[in-house]
Amino acid sequence: MVHLCCKRCNWCSRQRPLWRVHQLTSGQNICDHCLEWHIHATDFLNGAVPAGCQACGITWEQMRERTIGDEVRLYVVPKDGIYQLLCRRCVQPYMRKRHDLYEGKELIAA
Ligand SMILES: [Zn+2]
Ligand SMILES: [Zn+2]
Repeated sequence: MVHLCCKRCNWCSRQRPLWRVHQLTSGQNICDHCLEWHIHATDFLNGAVPAGCQACGITWEQMRERTIGDEVRLYVVPKDGIYQLLCRRCVQPYMRKRHDLYEGKELIAA
């Protein structure tokens, strides 16, 4: 008998322990990490200060420090109803394939 200890997340493609993976009504699996970032992304769209980039882990504060000028951009990438929050560098691979990206709000660093 095969003991399944992990499930693959449909968004980040990582194998996660079962307790970290939730099944959506669509039948897709999403892990707690991606779900948390989806919530960050919707908060961001609603005007909250973003948590940062979910792919490389850079925080909003770090992005501001590394950006020359005062225009820091984040991109909201919709994928199967789930939003992903990515910095300019991490969004590049998506940019080539997709045209339905929301360009993140231009947040002016104060
Ligand atoms: Zn995931
Ligand atoms: Zn990034």
